[in-house]
Amino acid sequence: MNELSVAGLSRLCLHTITTKPWGIEEAARNYSAGGVKGITVWRDALHDRNIKKTGDMLRQEGLQIVSLCRGGFFPSCQPEKRRAAIDDNRRAVEEAFELGTDKIVLVCGADPAQPLEDSRKQIYDGIAAIIPEAGAAGIRLAIEPLHPMYADTRSAINTLAQANDLAEKLNSPWVGVAVDVYHLWWDPALESEIERCGKNSSLLAFHICDWKSPTTDFLNDRGLMGEGCIPLRKIRSWVEEAGFRGFIEVEIFSNEYWKTDQSGFLKRIIEAYIKYA
Ligand code: ZN
Repeated sequence: MNELSVAGLSRLCLHTITTKPWGIEEAARNYSAGGVKGITVWRDALHDRNIKKTGDMLRQEGLQIVSLCRGGFFPSCQPEKRRAAIDDNRRAVEEAFELGTDKIVLVCGADPAQPLEDSRKQIYDGIAAIIPEAGAAGIRLAIEPLHPMYADTRSAINTLAQANDLAEKLNSPWVGVAVDVYHLWWDPALESEIERCGKNSSLLAFHICDWKSPTTDFLNDRGLMGEGCIPLRKIRSWVEEAGFRGFIEVEIFSNEYWKTDQSGFLKRIIEAYIKYA
């Protein structure tokens, strides 16, 4: 790789789930060797590990720990499940602190057994409940709206407007939003809503991949940048006009790519990032 392209990677972050077959040590070594500068750690990658030592290992590899993914899943029609979810989010705040990151991505959740409005109210209550712990630990909570196809079980927050409304209502310096192009590319209000969270200084994260057409699996068939129909450069320009200067995070769930040699896949990610992101 030439020097120019390595310099061009200064804002590139990978989500550990993108290279799911790799354990976190192998991922860290390979990301670092490839010139990647940031890592977002999925909680499953920390299973049965000493979290503080894992954070030290990542920093020794020269990686900035951009965020912990993910908290959330607050709603349930059963009160004991809602309490358990809040406890789990408090654990996520502790894990993020031990890991040494200052951000948690929230996939807010939904319960198909109740109306979306009820789920949204419980999401508000759940986030409000953990703000004190998050603030004490210096962790910001990024509400990530999910594509409406996930409104039944994964998130009742489906547009950036809803995420911005929720963040404004919570009115805390510890709460903001995450923009993921996979979930939001179709939204005619995207540009104005990105501008809105920029004005509020609440744009905390930017996730990229592509929407393959046709898509064969609505969870695990995300594309590499440039492989689908998302106007990535245009959305990135809106995000940057809104003042965002953080990492550009590659988050690809793909049964197809997980089956391939991950070193070759990493190389393709870096090439696609340079060419299309
Ligand atoms: Zn995302």
